[in-house]
Amino acid sequence: MTSPTAVPAYAAPAPKAPLERTTIARRPVGEHDVLIDIKYAGICHSDIHQVQEGWGTGIFPMVPGHEIAGVVSEVGPGVTKYSVGDHVGVGCFVDSCRACEYCEQGLEQYCVNGSTATYNGRDKNGDPTYGGYSTHLVVDENYAVRIPEGLGLDEAAPLLCAGITTYSPLRHWNAGPGKKVAVIGLGGLGHMAVKIAHAMGAEVTVLSQSLRKKDDGLRLGADHYYATSDEATFTELRARFDLIVSTVSAPLPIDAYLRLLKVDGAFVNVGAPEEPNSVNMFSLIAGRKTLAGSAIGGIAETQEMLDFCAEHRIGAEIELIGAQQINEAYERVQSSDVRYRFVIDTATI
Ligand code: NAP
Ligand code: ZN
Ligand code: ZN
Repeated sequence: MTSPTAVPAYAAPAPKAPLERTTIARRPVGEHDVLIDIKYAGICHSDIHQVQEGWGTGIFPMVPGHEIAGVVSEVGPGVTKYSVGDHVGVGCFVDSCRACEYCEQGLEQYCVNGSTATYNGRDKNGDPTYGGYSTHLVVDENYAVRIPEGLGLDEAAPLLCAGITTYSPLRHWNAGPGKKVAVIGLGGLGHMAVKIAHAMGAEVTVLSQSLRKKDDGLRLGADHYYATSDEATFTELRARFDLIVSTVSAPLPIDAYLRLLKVDGAFVNVGAPEEPNSVNMFSLIAGRKTLAGSAIGGIAETQEMLDFCAEHRIGAEIELIGAQQINEAYERVQSSDVRYRFVIDTATI
C-alpha cells in the first residue's frame, strides 16, 4: 500500500443505525507503520455504547473495533519491531503524545494530551480513525503488540481490550495468592477477569445477576458463584473481599457492593455505564475503602498481559460470527446473552 487504499469495513452510518458494509480509506504505510491484514475483531460493549452515542457525540460513519488481531503484511522502511508474517494485535488506541509523563511511564492510555482512539477519534491530521471491523489497518509499530505463539488469533483478539482492561487493575491491586477477588458481571470483560485472577492465584468469586452461567463461571476458574438478584448474597458475603472488579455496563447500587469489602478493600470499576452512579461517602469511610476506576492498559503492559496469557494458556471464550451477524450480536450483548465474546471473522467482510 503506497497510497491511501479503499478497504471494506462495517460501519454505523449514523448514531444508533444498524451497521452495514462500506469502504474506507486507510493511509499509506509510513516510515514507522505496519500494514496489518486483520483476521479477527472482537465486539466490545464499548463499541455499542459509542455507536449509540451513550457516552456522547460520536464521529460517523463509525467503524468500531478495538480488539484487533492479524498478520503484518507490509512494513515501512523505519520499522524495527515487526516483520511481514508476524502476528500482532491493536487495542483501544493507535497513538498518543509520546512526551507527557504518562506516555513516558508506559501509561499511554492516560496521556494528558489524549491518546488517539482506534476508532471514533481523530488522528494528528484531524482525520477520523476507523477500527477493526475491517480487513486492513495501518498503524505505527509502537502501538501494535506481538501476539505470542500458542495463542490463536481468534481467541487472542478480545485480549486487546477485555484482557488488558481486567489484567491491569488485577495487577495494580495485587490480585494473587491469599487475596479474595470478586468479579461483577460475567460478560466479555468479566470472563477474562475470572480467568486472569485465577491464573494469578487469587480466590475468585463471580457476582452475576443470576446463576444461569454458574457452570461456566466455575469452569473458567471461579471458586464461588453468587446471584446478585438474591438478597442473601449481600448478607453472606459481607466484608469478604480484598478487591471487587465491576465489569458491569449499567449503573449499580455501589453502596451494597462496598459493604462486601474488607477494611482497606478496593472496589474498582472498569464498566463504563452511560448514566452516573451515586455513592454514599459513609460506605467508604466505614472501613477505609477505596473506590477506583481503571482504563485499559499501556502498550508495555498489554504485551505483558499477552505473554502472561500465552504462558497460562488463556484465551477468550469466543463465539465466531460473520460480519452479517454484527447487528444481531449487538442485541445479544445488550441482553447479557454473550458467551463470552463475539468475534468477527473479517474474511466475511
Ligand atoms: P458485556 O459483555 O455486555 O458484559 C457486561 C456484563 O455485566 C453482562 O454480561 C452482565 O453480566 C452484567 N450486566 C449487564 N447489565 C447489567 C445490569 N443492569 N445490572 C447488573 N449487571 C449487569 O460487556 P463488556 O464488553 O464486558 O463491557 C463491560 C463494560 O466495560 C462496558 O460498559 C464497557 O464499555 C466497559 N469497558 C471499559 C473499559 C475500560 O477501559 N475501563 C474497557 C472495555 C470495556 P451477568 O449476566 O453475569 O450479570
Ligand atoms: Zn473495549
Ligand atoms: Zn502523552
